[in-house]
Amino acid sequence: MRFTKAVWIFLLTAALLLLLDFLLPFRVNPRYSTLVEAADGSVLHAFLNEEDKWRLYTELEEISPTLRTTLIHKEDRWFYFHPGVNPLALVRALSTNLSRNKRSSGASTITMQVVRLLEPRPRTYLSKGIEILRAFQLEAHYSKDEILQLYINLVPYGSNIEGIKAASLLYFQKPPEVLSLAEVMALTIIPNRPSSLRPGKSNTYLLSERNRWLQRFKEEKLFDSQTITDAIAEPLLAKRVAAPQSAPHLALRLKSEFPDTPILKTTLQRARQSTLEKLTYNYVSRLKAMNIRNAAVLVINNRTMAVEAYVGSADFNDHTDGGQVDGIRAIRSPGSTLKPLLYATAFDAGLLTPKSILYDVPTNFQGFEPENFDQQFHGKVSVEFALANSLNVPAVQVLSQLGTTAFLEKLKKAEFKTIQKQSSKLGLSMILGGCGVTLEELTTLFASFANQGQFSKAYYLQKPEFHNPTSLISEEANFLINQILTQPTRPDLPNNYAYTYRLPRISWKTGTSFGKKDAWSIGYNAHYTVGVWVGNFSGEGVPELNGANIATPLLFEIFNSIDYNSTAQWFAQPEGLSHRMVCQETGQIPSSFCIHQIEDYYLPGVSSTQACEHKKSVWLDVRRRMSYCPYCMPETGVEQVFLPNDPPQLTQYYEARHISYEKIPPHNPSCTRVFGNASPLKITYPVEGSTYRLNRKDQTRLALTAQTASDTKTLYWYVNDVLVGSAAPQQSVFCQPSAGKVKISCVDDQGRVKTLWIQVNYD
Ligand SMILES: [Zn+2]
Ligand SMILES: [Zn+2]
Repeated sequence: MRFTKAVWIFLLTAALLLLLDFLLPFRVNPRYSTLVEAADGSVLHAFLNEEDKWRLYTELEEISPTLRTTLIHKEDRWFYFHPGVNPLALVRALSTNLSRNKRSSGASTITMQVVRLLEPRPRTYLSKGIEILRAFQLEAHYSKDEILQLYINLVPYGSNIEGIKAASLLYFQKPPEVLSLAEVMALTIIPNRPSSLRPGKSNTYLLSERNRWLQRFKEEKLFDSQTITDAIAEPLLAKRVAAPQSAPHLALRLKSEFPDTPILKTTLQRARQSTLEKLTYNYVSRLKAMNIRNAAVLVINNRTMAVEAYVGSADFNDHTDGGQVDGIRAIRSPGSTLKPLLYATAFDAGLLTPKSILYDVPTNFQGFEPENFDQQFHGKVSVEFALANSLNVPAVQVLSQLGTTAFLEKLKKAEFKTIQKQSSKLGLSMILGGCGVTLEELTTLFASFANQGQFSKAYYLQKPEFHNPTSLISEEANFLINQILTQPTRPDLPNNYAYTYRLPRISWKTGTSFGKKDAWSIGYNAHYTVGVWVGNFSGEGVPELNGANIATPLLFEIFNSIDYNSTAQWFAQPEGLSHRMVCQETGQIPSSFCIHQIEDYYLPGVSSTQACEHKKSVWLDVRRRMSYCPYCMPETGVEQVFLPNDPPQLTQYYEARHISYEKIPPHNPSCTRVFGNASPLKITYPVEGSTYRLNRKDQTRLALTAQTASDTKTLYWYVNDVLVGSAAPQQSVFCQPSAGKVKISCVDDQGRVKTLWIQVNYD
């Protein structure tokens, strides 16, 4: 009977405890500071937690055997054997308290200390009772190691420092797992009297306390005698320092992305990060006299795509120039930096090879008339010259040939987010910087050039989700870009670079945005891709700002700092790439009249195999004063010659600049087909002598249309002697002439010309 009663009491008590546990759950959710670590596990950056405390999360593996032994021996040597409360110690403490009539916490186990740290209560017997129940509850839900970990994380060190990790970092500048026995000892005794034992200028009291405890351990033979003797001899160098604040932009970025992760393990290389932070700071300090006040730098390891350095601005603490702005994610105009991707895409589309000839002459692309950076034109240029010299007209010409849709598709593949959003509004000007990109996007794109055209996202945190790389451009086209971008003789080298900088072997591309607001220089070798942006976060333009002179010197300095005397092999030529002879005049397959031939790369089965037409056959009289068409050609006194077959925009350019070139003699004046009364070429719109009103705001444009003979295939339209476009006869060309008297001319492919004058006014 008594037995049953005992069982009942036991069961009821157990049920009551379970019910209490259910009704009053112990919420163990300490708010930790966010800690950002470098790749080697050292602390890069620490944040205060929400309660403005340095409470850093210690992982179990950071608790070294020395720390564990010292702590348990000192605080609660039966920790692993009691159920949260040590009954013997409790009884002893109770009797001491009763006899001396004062309370002591000597009976506190580590578990009970954790309870008090989590839920502070006034010191009463009732509180003590609750704490004992809570200690049982904690033990029921957590393992001993987890409870020890909580203690290590919460133990107060005075001021706003909590937990051994924060104390270790702020007093000894190292993580807890590498602390020496002497340091561990000091850290385990400070919480006894956090104010008088706090490390500082004079550590005499702390030192004597430390050695008193070590001596005690020696007597108790906790560690071997020599270890303790050495520990006693060790000087005490603890001193409070400021929390590490390296890589502030990335730290803030990751903290906002992962607010509940106490430790963020990044891929940043600690030494590299701090070197580049200093380098960028010093570099921008030298530019401030020119009113250039900021810069951002991103370094990607090409093999792993891990980001190794992230410098968001020249000086995070500079409040006047927006030092907190993250220049790596700021949306800016790319200037010319997208041109390599455009040419690579055109190589893959078969449109071009490095020796293909493009025309760098004033050209009107349906109202858009690009100019070069130096406001000069270079006439006939090869693709490699156009890219290495970053010429604008050829780039726009290539984009118009390739089509903006195809290029936007490519940029989408390379994950240009802002461009995707803007895509419906983007036109040919995007290749000259008329779109928005970030340094992060650009640097990632260039890292794909260092990876045979395979695109992968760069990442910042260790153990990223794995993504298969996407093929952005072919290995062959990619190699051609690498070769062009490594040419050492080019205008976008910084002034006097030879005297100032050691030139690393890299491929790189510069960019300068419209209005001189952004200077870019993005470079790579097999090891690293480095992106550099220099400018003002305010968006203020500066006349001296350009990619070559302002961004490239910093790029070179960085390469010389991170990969001096690089062991990186240069990129190998892919097997799919072959050589062929082409005509120097066009870069196309030589015809019988193509005397000057040069060697060029090409992609077999991809590159265009069009035969060169740099000359055309013309019938002339023997004195070469007059040309004939088959319609008016006399039966004798004529000879067939091959004359330059230059496109009208090029001859127009030669004329305007008084550059001599081989002209086709005028057409036989008595040819009735071309000059007959019923001339088959007639401008139908606009009408001679009329006045046209256009509106600049609505972007209204004037249509140009003509009637032609059936033998005409193409019409060329000129406004004030500048070619504005060509079209099939039944199509219109649109233009936006300047106000005033305007000359409109139409030329057909047979050489017929019609000209009229109109008046244009703008609302
Ligand atoms: Zn030729
Ligand atoms: Zn004729």
